[in-house]
Amino acid sequence: MPFFCQQCGECCSHMGVVHRIREEIGEFRFLLVNEYTGEVTPVEIDPDKIALFEDRSIFTSFPEACPFLRRDVAGERICCTVHLSWPEICKEFSCWRILILDPAGRRSGRVMGARYLVCEDEQLYSIWRKRLDEIGVVDDGSWDRELITLAEEHGYRVYR
Ligand code: SF4
Ligand code: SF4
Repeated sequence: MPFFCQQCGECCSHMGVVHRIREEIGEFRFLLVNEYTGEVTPVEIDPDKIALFEDRSIFTSFPEACPFLRRDVAGERICCTVHLSWPEICKEFSCWRILILDPAGRRSGRVMGARYLVCEDEQLYSIWRKRLDEIGVVDDGSWDRELITLAEEHGYRVYR
């Protein structure tokens, strides 16, 4: 399955140190500069997100957030207000190779790169540590298969 974003906002909540608005070039249109690469991207607030963009309360909790990150209407999720004109870095980014959700659909773990499991679920972490001790040293493909099998055996949903 191709990568999909769960809109947790984690990756964008510190991107204010990378992304800076260089200039306003029109109504809800800006030049966004990447401070590390120098890349400049013209971006435009998505027409359906103008009201969200005008609410800057997110910066109280995330002072380093990307200048285009906002909370959605319900305040539960975080969203990008320039989704239709994303800079390249945002198009290319994906935060998981394997995604594991618990039966309620909450994120339990993400595999990033080879053999790097970021676990947000203590139960998953503990059963995986135990399985790792049992299987010993394995190659990358077997490591993936063991994790997927274990997670599915315990009722998690796995996407890859
Ligand atoms: S790319 Fe990943 S870390 Fe970033 S908002 Fe989406 S799910 Fe969260
Ligand atoms: S432009 Fe959007 S996707 Fe990219 S870092 Fe900012 S909020 Fe995140």
